Amino acid sequence: MDLGIRGKRALVCASSKGLGRGCAEALADAGVDLVMNARGAEALEAAAADIRARFGVRVTTVACDVTTPEGQSRVLAAGPFDILVTNAGGPPPGMWSDWDRDDFIRALDANMLAPIALMKGALPGMIERGWGRVVNITSGSVKAPIPQLGLSNSARAGLTGYVAGTSRQVAPHGVVINNLLPGIHATDRSASLDAGVMAADGITQDEARARREATIPARTYGRPQDFGAMCAFLCSDHARFIVGQNILIDGGAANLSL
Ligand code: NAP
Repeated sequence: MDLGIRGKRALVCASSKGLGRGCAEALADAGVDLVMNARGAEALEAAAADIRARFGVRVTTVACDVTTPEGQSRVLAAGPFDILVTNAGGPPPGMWSDWDRDDFIRALDANMLAPIALMKGALPGMIERGWGRVVNITSGSVKAPIPQLGLSNSARAGLTGYVAGTSRQVAPHGVVINNLLPGIHATDRSASLDAGVMAADGITQDEARARREATIPARTYGRPQDFGAMCAFLCSDHARFIVGQNILIDGGAANLSL
């Protein structure tokens, strides 16, 4: 299927690895030129070079922490963008009693206020041009909160509320915003969560993964390319009538079909 976005320009945040990388590759496969971002310059440059070589699109990089106002200014200065994919690392797991105000502020900065600032920066240009697509990478925990991810549950709920209103305010201008909610995908993030279970329960990392896979109806972790394909579709011309949705990609793990 031609996604109808060849030659458009996308900012894909936190994209040297994992789900962001999956989104960057799927957009590049659709002919979209990219601005890629991550904090670590070396892995970012390697990812950009790989994507240039495989897909023949233009790729520039901005190495910075996208959760800070300085980082947000730097990535936005590389605009204008037709497509924005917001993403950043997720907060650590823990117990409700572990977290103080500073932990919440860090989580809100990373997973709520950063995507909001990026949307505020990118939306005016999209509205002016009458076309835009935004995908926020959030989490399955938005629909089925995960007990040990209280910081993530809290920050992502705030972003979800913001997008519910904003997506409907910008839709009349041809700008479409949706959230993509990953369940467990095979990335460094899931490996570190498995490593936590491994340490706590005295099992191997493979056993921790197998135990978690057994709870997923699809009996496997998702791949970044599965996630990226859906992201590219939501950024496509065909997605013009999909507005303000929270789309789960979790192998059926959360049984919310009714
Ligand atoms: P990952 O494999 O750990 O990859 C994270 C990527 O983001 C790397 O490229 C990393 O590069 C970059 N990054 C992290 N923090 C950044 C920052 N502050 N500024 C700029 N770049 C940053 O993570 P992932 O599994 O793809 O997860 C992506 C998001 O989805 C996270 O918020 C996570 O909580 C959420 N999620 C993931 C899963 C899953 O199973 N994988 C499930 C639910 C939700 P640098 O370290 O070099 O910056």
